[in-house]
Amino acid sequence: MATCDHLTHWLENPPVLSPRIQGCEECLAVGDTWVHLRICLTCGHVGCCESSKNKHASKHAHSRGHPLVQSFEPGETWIWCYIDQAILRGDRKLYTQVSPS
Ligand SMILES: [Zn+2]
Ligand SMILES: [Zn+2]
Ligand SMILES: [Zn+2]
Repeated sequence: MATCDHLTHWLENPPVLSPRIQGCEECLAVGDTWVHLRICLTCGHVGCCESSKNKHASKHAHSRGHPLVQSFEPGETWIWCYIDQAILRGDRKLYTQVSPS
């Protein structure tokens, strides 16, 4: 299993993440669509995945220097580190899902 110091440090002092919306903010702003969603574990930014044409999660990670994202898809809890280029198995959701209104 891959090791990742970013996740180790993150777990020592995890921030509280509460994503504001159930979608990619940047795509919604321009009326675009996405395939899957990822949530930034540093700031709670929700962005679209590598299979989406805009790749906002990846752009966010590199421009802000936030290495860790977790899948924002129902039933998926894996974590990806952009710096180590590794999938880190997550056994639980590390963010608070916004409640449907
Ligand atoms: Zn890492
Ligand atoms: Zn997007
Ligand atoms: Zn972030």
